[in-house]
Formats: sequence, C-alpha cells, structure tokens
Amino acid sequence: MEMLLNQKIQTLKGVGSAKSLALAKLNIFTINDLITHYPRRYEDRSVIKKITNMVAGNLETISGAIINITESNIRRGLKLVKVTVGDETGFIQLVWFNQPFIKKQLSIGKKIIATGKVSYSYGQLAMNNVEYEVLDEQEANHRNKIVPVYATNEVITQKFLRQLVNEVLGRFLFLEETIPKGVLEEYQLISREQAIRNIHFPDNNNDLAKARERLVFEELYLIQCGLAIMKIKNKTGNLGIKHLLNSTLSKAVYDRIPFELTKDQKQVLREITFDMERNLPMQRLLQGDVGSGKTIIATLALVKTVENGYQGALMVPTEILAEQHYQTITNLLLPFDINVVLLSGKLTKKNREKMIEEIKSGEVNIVVGTHALIQEDVEFKSIGLVITDEQHRFGVQQRTLLQEKGHMPDVLVMTATPIPRTMTLTVYGDLDISVIKELPPGRKPIRTFIRQLDKRPQIYQFVLEQIKKGRQAYVVCPLIEVSENIDTQAATELFEELKTGIFKEVACGLIHGKLGKKDKEKVMSDFYSGAVKLLVATTVIEVGVNVPNASIMVIEGAERFGLAQLHQLRGRIGRGEYQSYCILLTESKNQNTKERLLVMEKTQDGFILAEEDLKLRGPGQFFGSRQHGLPDLKIADILGDLDILLQARKAALKTVVDKNLLQFVEQVLLLQYHEHFKDIINN
Ligand code: ADP
Ligand code: MG
Repeated sequence: MEMLLNQKIQTLKGVGSAKSLALAKLNIFTINDLITHYPRRYEDRSVIKKITNMVAGNLETISGAIINITESNIRRGLKLVKVTVGDETGFIQLVWFNQPFIKKQLSIGKKIIATGKVSYSYGQLAMNNVEYEVLDEQEANHRNKIVPVYATNEVITQKFLRQLVNEVLGRFLFLEETIPKGVLEEYQLISREQAIRNIHFPDNNNDLAKARERLVFEELYLIQCGLAIMKIKNKTGNLGIKHLLNSTLSKAVYDRIPFELTKDQKQVLREITFDMERNLPMQRLLQGDVGSGKTIIATLALVKTVENGYQGALMVPTEILAEQHYQTITNLLLPFDINVVLLSGKLTKKNREKMIEEIKSGEVNIVVGTHALIQEDVEFKSIGLVITDEQHRFGVQQRTLLQEKGHMPDVLVMTATPIPRTMTLTVYGDLDISVIKELPPGRKPIRTFIRQLDKRPQIYQFVLEQIKKGRQAYVVCPLIEVSENIDTQAATELFEELKTGIFKEVACGLIHGKLGKKDKEKVMSDFYSGAVKLLVATTVIEVGVNVPNASIMVIEGAERFGLAQLHQLRGRIGRGEYQSYCILLTESKNQNTKERLLVMEKTQDGFILAEEDLKLRGPGQFFGSRQHGLPDLKIADILGDLDILLQARKAALKTVVDKNLLQFVEQVLLLQYHEHFKDIINN
C-alpha cells in the first residue's frame, strides 16, 4: 500500500508532463501529496435554490440543464449570449455581454451550476455576469453536496483536481493509519481512511468537521512527536553537565546587582538554576519583553558555569549588541577574577588569533560575540553553557553549531519577540519555556501617538523641544525592503533633510546597514555618550540597543512595519527616568492600517501585539524568513486550533515514552515528514 502512496503522480492516467510540472508547482509530486492537498474551502451546493424561489436583487445559485443558447448583436461592438436553463420548477436566462467564447463552452443538454445576481427583465428571470461551471456526469452526482475548492494554477483546474483526487480515492480502498489506535480511541478521532475521503468529498458539514479535526490532530500530533523525540534524544543517553549549587562567586555577583530582581526574574532564575544543576542538558527558551531584564539573568547563569570551572558563551545577532552586553557583563563582574572577552568581527587578525588561543586554553571564562563565535576555528576548552540572545534572528542550525562546540552544554535561548503560545509549542516545541512578564519597576509607560503626514512639522518641532531639554531622539525611516540600497538612500535623504532643516543646530547622526563597521561603531558610541542627539536610523537599531536618555522616537511610514517590529523599535525608548514618546507617522488613510496601528497606541504588551500581528499577517510574516526548519502546516491553523494543539501535544508526550508507540510514529514520521525528521530518527 505505502508503495502506492509514494508513487509518482505522472503514473496516473491523464497526468502528462505539462500537468505534472504544474502539479509540482502546487507541491504535488506523489499520490500522497495529492490526497493531502487539502481543499482550501468548500462550495456548499446544498444551498442551491429552485428557480421558482429566485428573488430579484439577490445573489443566488441555481443548477439545471441548458435548454437553449442564442447569440445576438445588440448594436455594433456589443454581443449578447443568452442561455436558458431550466430545472423542474422553471426557467431562467443567463446573460453574458461580449464574451462570445462562452458559447463554445456550453451546449444544449449539459448540466450547469451558476451563481449570479438575479433580475427581472421583460417579465423573465435573468442572471447577469454569471459565474458558472459545467458539470459532467460524475460531477452532477456531487450535486447537493459540499464541493472542495483547491489551490490551483493556470494549468490545473478545480475540475481536473477534483477528478484526479476522486479517481485516486476510488482506487485505494485502504489508507494506512498514522496515529496509534489507543490515541485514536482516547481522542475519539475517525480513521485516516475516512478522514481523507471526507475532507475531499464530505456528505455534510458534520462529516467535514470530523474529518478536519482528525487531520489537524494528525498533523500537530506528528510534528509534536518529532519535536518530543528530538528533545528525548537530546536528553537521554547523553548526560550533560551537572552544575553544583550556587557558591561564593555566584552569591557575591548576585549581591553586587544594583537593583532587586523582579518576581518574574527570580522565578526564571530558579528555573534555569534548577536545569543547570541537573545532569540533563538544559534546553530552555527565555521569553521576556523588551526591557524586561534578560541580560542580568544571562549573566548570572554564565557566572554559575564559570564557578563550576566551565566556560560560557553568549551569542548575539549584531556587533552593537555584542559590545553592549560585553560592557554590561564586565561592569558587573569588575571586582571578580573572571576573564570576559568580546570576540568581535573587527579584531585584527593577530588579536583574534590570540583570543582564540586563550579560549582554547581555557584562560577565557566568558565569550561574548556574534556569529563570529560559531566559526570553525573557535574551540573551547570546556563549554558549560551556551546562550543565544534574540533567538529569532538565528536559525536552529546556528544554535546547534554553537552547542556542538562542547559536550552537551546547557543551552539557553533568549528572545524579546513575544511568541504566542501556539507558536512556542509548535516552533519551539523541543524547548522548555520560561517567561518574564513584568517589567522592572518605575518604568513610565511610553506615550504613543499616530499622526498623519500633515502634522509632521509640529511633530519635529516637538522633538526639537525635547532635545533642547536634554533628551535624545531616534527617527526611524520607513522600511522599503526592495533592496538595502533603496532603504539606505531613503535614510540618507531623510537625514539630509532633517540635518539641514529644522535640526540644523543639533548634532545629528545616521546609521544604516550599508555603513562600514567602523562608522557604525562611531555613530553608536557618539549616541551613547550623548554627543549625537538625534539619530536617523533604519531598522538596524531594532535589536537590543540601550540608551536610557533617548526618550523620543519618530517612526516614518509606520504602516510599513509589522506590529511586532514596531514594538521592538519602540522598546528602544522608555528605558530611563524621563517620560517617553513614540510617534507613528503615516500617510495611509486605509481603515485597516489605522486599526492596526491603533493597537500600538492602546497597548505596550508585546504578547498582545504579537498575537495581533499573527492574526493580521499570518505566521510566515511573523517569522520573516522561515528559519526554524519545521514542516509547513497543511491544514492546522496556528491560531484557531490551539485546543487541538494542546491535546496533540499531550498525546505526543505520552506516545514517545512508550517503546511500541514510539516505533510506530517513527515509521510514520519517516514517511510523512522524511526531510524534517530523518536525522533525529536514524541516529
Ligand atoms: P532585555 O530583556 O530587553 O534584554 P535588559 O536586560 O537590557 O532587557 O534590561 C533593560 C534595563 O533594565 C537594563 O538597563 C537593566 O539594567 C535594567 N533592569 C533589569 N532588571 C532590573 C530590575 N529588576 N530592576 C531595575 N532595573 C532592571
Ligand atoms: Mg536584551
């Protein structure tokens, strides 16, 4: 049976080379792909009305036989095709203007389904600009049924796909089960066989709902099983590092923290400490909104590994951030005998070699750096803890590469992009999760305003006043994203405009991705020191930058950003004692855009914003490029199917600890998600 599922689609009758190419574009290569090419929606032909019940002015759907076809020239250049359709209750005229080809597609005696706006003309019922479909014998049998509507393309029509699926389902009488029997029973799911048939050709809405539930469960369950297997393989048989209870050094560093940790910080610190003290490798995701204070937690964890005689590494996505973290960490650890280095991309060859030697010999205790950390020649003597900050900027691969520089080190990934629960469970399903929800005390809420372009002069006047009071400001340029060159150009123009205009008395700086490393560093350090008051920037400032005196941010073309991204940007301000302001400039009068931006005015809760973003822009947008390496969801809806996801996860966690069940799902995973999970299953 399974051989047949893996059979190439070309082996089917009616699928030649043109068709198979077009099917490939829909990701249909095998029969299995075809039957899991689930409908995007359905047409409910059970709502078809009898002609006698047509109401003029309404949009209605009818079905009947073609009785007559006429073509006429009303006047020059205006051709009319009139088709009379009848059912057992009456007749209706379908009318098309200037579409003579319609005539070729229709012929007397054929059955047709048509949807259009009903009118009365000359005492007769008529429909204009009709959407229709000619039914062949087989399809006429789907009358009064729910008909699948698939993703298609120019070559592959709905009708063709329906027939192909129908034919295949007619040929296979048995589809092998992908969910263990016990799980099916526990969650009262219908069989795969039944579900696949009913997802394509359901008899009624109830059957369809059951089929969908089963297939959504299947999809989420299998992915969860894969993730759970990954987690187990990481943990069992591979004993990690067992850190000892906190001792003098950890305690002394803790006592030197200039503030009291928040309740949430204490809680996540306990979770991390607990993980580190077990002999299983830690695999933990630390989520905390911008400014929630993750760096101090990371520092304490690094100190703990150093106290135990191991090295710690902190990897961040940008040089700016690396430098900032390096500063924070060295400041706190100043009185202690801990050797912290910044493995920067701008080191001279000689210095870099020296540093790499010291890392290798174990002289270095803590390394902070960018991707530079995962380069091949960087070797550690004994790495005990690996931390990646702003995880969403790295792929799973990069995280793994750093991990592999040691023997089962503890792993902590940190992210400021609040990830909705559905996403953490799917995308980060192999990690345990810690969350910091509250911000440190004393933060004044940022005041956020949306303003149309006509208010631009007043806005910049306000910025100028704030700068005169001693504050600093960011101006963020609209994201164009056609190319970095264009973004850079736009930023440069804006910078020139502001610098020579209203801010001509003010020290202005410009930072964008095309700037050389040296220039970037210079601008940023001038902004830190306060020498630069107004910083014009592209999104390069998005991640992690901390200048507490900067209390105002103008975001130009705000409608071009996602909410999560706006939230990240806004997180650069509101970090000090002053009231902060964020102004979202937009030229868009679009109501949807306005509503989206309004969420920014209303809330500063990153989780709410992330959920909104996910709803509005979909998961793909949310993650930017898909780096996480998990299968695309074919049927489950990441927002709508949370309940099923939770059940599927529960079932998966039970499955993978049962030897027989585990073996079963491993076989299924190899078949269904070969690419994604083959590595974890074969080794
Ligand atoms: P993020 O979670 O965005 O990385 P940071 O670690 O950069 O946040 O912290 C933001 C700021 O808040 C830093 O200046 C840090 O010193 C400060 N901070 C962190 N925790 C506390 C706390 N419990 N009380 C007061 N300030 C804190
Ligand atoms: Mg941070």
